[in-house]
Amino acid sequence: MSSASLIRAVLFDWGGTLTTFHSVDMLDAWKVAASVLAPEDVDRVAAALLAAEQEVWARTTSTLRSATTAEVLRTASAAVNLPIDEVLHDRAVASYLDHWAPTTVARAEARETLHALRSRGLRTGLLSNTHWPRDQHESWLARDGLLDLLDARVYTSDLDVVKPHEDAFRALLDAVGVDAAEAVFVGDRLWDDVYGAARLGMRTVWIRNDEVPPYDVEPDAVVDTLAELVTLPMIIAATATSMPR
Ligand SMILES: [Mg+2]
Repeated sequence: MSSASLIRAVLFDWGGTLTTFHSVDMLDAWKVAASVLAPEDVDRVAAALLAAEQEVWARTTSTLRSATTAEVLRTASAAVNLPIDEVLHDRAVASYLDHWAPTTVARAEARETLHALRSRGLRTGLLSNTHWPRDQHESWLARDGLLDLLDARVYTSDLDVVKPHEDAFRALLDAVGVDAAEAVFVGDRLWDDVYGAARLGMRTVWIRNDEVPPYDVEPDAVVDTLAELVTLPMIIAATATSMPR
């Protein structure tokens, strides 16, 4: 690969990559929303919310069309004949996201690693498959001191498509201002992250996660911690000739 462009940017998935991976009971999370939407009918409404979310994820997997949490609530409300009340929906989403908050904490080495990459002159970015709103993601990143260390942040709840669709990766590459050949993508999902990024010509690092679905793709590197990134030959090669600062 001596003809490959030097890396100018290191781009990241969010859940399971910049954060530690959590297996969460999705129904428990939706019960929190249901208790706001219909306190008398929590189990039935929570089941409808879960079904609506599962339908959304099945659809995004087959068509790669993105979705929003608000859409999940509207779909579920229609299914159980609840009135569509935007103010109530916003409150339900806020409670639901609060329930998720403990699973959103950054890996211990995330801040130090991002700082190390940027101090070597590399740009950084984030691309998350998510139906959650941008503002919520940004407040979690700010809480953990990562917001200012990510030059661009793209959430598929703001896009028409999800990873591995190339338009999702293009949105991030354009925002960061690099070509695919100048970027490495770091992610924990073999299909969404590694296959998707490799197909565009990005180099790929898989942060090992044995709980994600298998996919037959060969990442350029495999790591268990973010701290290992700065020791990878592709990163060292990219930064060996850059000016000290
Ligand atoms: Mg992930």
